Amino acid sequence: MISIVGIGPGGYDDMTVRAINAIKNADVVTGYSLYVELVRDLIGNKETFCTEMRGEVERCQKAAEYALSGKNVALISSGDAGVYGMAGLMLKVLEDHPEVKTEVIPGVSACQSGGAVLGAPLVHDFAVISLSDLLTPWTLIEKRLEAAAAADFVIVLYNPGSHKRKDYLYHACTSVLKYKSPDTICGLVKNIGREGEHHSIMTLRELQNTTVDMLTTAFIGNSHTTIINGKMITPRGYHI
Ligand code: SAH
Repeated sequence: MISIVGIGPGGYDDMTVRAINAIKNADVVTGYSLYVELVRDLIGNKETFCTEMRGEVERCQKAAEYALSGKNVALISSGDAGVYGMAGLMLKVLEDHPEVKTEVIPGVSACQSGGAVLGAPLVHDFAVISLSDLLTPWTLIEKRLEAAAAADFVIVLYNPGSHKRKDYLYHACTSVLKYKSPDTICGLVKNIGREGEHHSIMTLRELQNTTVDMLTTAFIGNSHTTIINGKMITPRGYHI
């Protein structure tokens, strides 16, 4: 049995009871080392198999091996395992092993936990776009950014930058600025639910000139997004 577990943004309080129980009931816990450390208290002295970033295929193959040998495996992913997470890859790796039972346990994704830190930016239609071009060509990312901006979606950007991809957020904002005003309200949240959580609210022009790291999620409002008492809010349209 493999439980593909979304552990939420990082803190125990943001995990679901199902996720906690899946980890407690597992014989083996596997995941990216940083995330395994986040849930270390729940794992105790169980067997673990960790790999670094880019070790995703190896991690899933190992999880499959453990399951085929009769063990209960918890494969953990940050946020929701089905949002730029491990769920799709794990199910694909098991393509030729339909006898292995699987369950996908949803978690709180960064758009939800980060949105809650900022206020209520996702109360209307939104699009989620990753700026990582490791597995997706940049031309397609740009096309999606422009389409979402043209349709006035609130846009949440995952993987907005890293030490190797310093100018990606700048270029993404350039695409979005073709359709959205430079004064559009935006927000950044770093280390959501973890030590060092930090957020800021700014305009799209300011966001374009901000440097971010990979532990940050960026929110670009729609044309109605506003600031109320320091919170980023996208109105739904109620009249009060
Ligand atoms: N499955 C995860 C997303 C993995 S992609 C989820 O559902 O949240 C990795 C990206 O997610 C990061 O680059 C960042 O943009 C975002 N992210 C994940 N956890 C975060 C956290 N605790 N704080 C801020 N951003 C986070």
